[in-house]
Amino acid sequence: METADDQQARITELTAQLEEANEVLAAIQSGAVDGLVVSGTNGEQVFTLQGAEMPYRILVEEMNQGALMLIPDGTIFYANTRFAALCQTPLEKVIGSSWKEFFPLDKYPELDTCLTAAEPLYPPHEISLRVADGSFCPVQLSLRSLSTSGVVGFSVIVTDLTERKQSETALRKTSAELEEKNSQLEAFSYSISHDMRAPLRAMQGYANLLIEDYGDKLEPEPKSYVERIRSSAKHLDRLINDVLAYSKLSSDEHETATFDLNEMVQGVVDNYPNPGNALIEIVPSSARVRGYEVPLGQCISNLLGNAIKFIPPGRVPSVKVWTEPTNGRFRLWFEDNGIGILPKDQIKIFGLFSRLHTNAEYEGTGIGLSMVKKAVEQMGGHVGVESELGKGSRFWIELESA
Ligand code: ADP
Repeated sequence: METADDQQARITELTAQLEEANEVLAAIQSGAVDGLVVSGTNGEQVFTLQGAEMPYRILVEEMNQGALMLIPDGTIFYANTRFAALCQTPLEKVIGSSWKEFFPLDKYPELDTCLTAAEPLYPPHEISLRVADGSFCPVQLSLRSLSTSGVVGFSVIVTDLTERKQSETALRKTSAELEEKNSQLEAFSYSISHDMRAPLRAMQGYANLLIEDYGDKLEPEPKSYVERIRSSAKHLDRLINDVLAYSKLSSDEHETATFDLNEMVQGVVDNYPNPGNALIEIVPSSARVRGYEVPLGQCISNLLGNAIKFIPPGRVPSVKVWTEPTNGRFRLWFEDNGIGILPKDQIKIFGLFSRLHTNAEYEGTGIGLSMVKKAVEQMGGHVGVESELGKGSRFWIELESA
């Protein structure tokens, strides 16, 4: 018969065994044990807890995103340490809580719906994560249903967007500053160019008077100097006009309207001086586009002007203009039989003041094409060129069809 002492010893032994079992269980639960050796009648047997799941567990634990597993009612039965760190809540507290607790109250209905919806909340979307200190952290949430070994639930991936948001804000700030600086610069160049006009007109006027009133009294050399003053003043006048037109593109308010491209081209041709008797063919079309009236007219006039201007000496310019539909847009082409452009220069020429020739060869300011590019882009379109040196060029602008 067991004495009271025997019973006490047995209770102590059982308590010790229970404690040991509890410790083993806790170690298994916390991931500290990867395998068990069990002694039985058939000898010792090794049960591995890591198996094929071990690499996944490491991956999920080490990854830079928060990971959760939910049972169907939204209770968290697994969370990685990254998630606990993101919401600054101890892992033991996270596990067993409802996932909703980590998001703003007003999102609860949305989060409930996504667990019951036939098609769970997927693909990812942005939401705020509630942090223990009362703040919110911008995250991207993606959820999908999970069904392994009969356990049905959800897996949730939470990506911290704080850094991305910060860079986006910084980028927005820099762009706004840049835009501000640009418009200041354009306003400055506008006022300088505007103010340069009056003295320039005086120079032109007096040079003209010198030639007209005293031309026959001047020796050839001084006369040629005055001629040079006249032509330089003319060039400067053109430069000023082009700079003003370029800066007006951004400063003026433009109203979007729809235009018949053929009518626009015809209008420019009718009003365009055609000193070289260029042949201009406009292929009939009824293409209508969305754009701004004055800038669109300037683009057409610049492209036509270049097509006629950049021609080898002695050749009659021949220009063909036509439209082509492209994915809800219309492309307006200007094909010439001119000098052509090397491939390496074809992007460069759209830059401000970029010219491939001297003024003695072909007059110009290098502003025309950059104006075309800027105006077309302001209208939401694109520009481009196809060309081969010596074989003519094909410039195009593409605008949204009306
Ligand atoms: P500009 O006509 O005042 O020189 P643009 O900006 O209109 O200025 O053109 C820039 C340069 O691109 C021109 O100087 C010329 O070298 C080249 N270019 C433009 N259009 C043509 C063309 N149709 N054929 C050959 N070269 C061209």
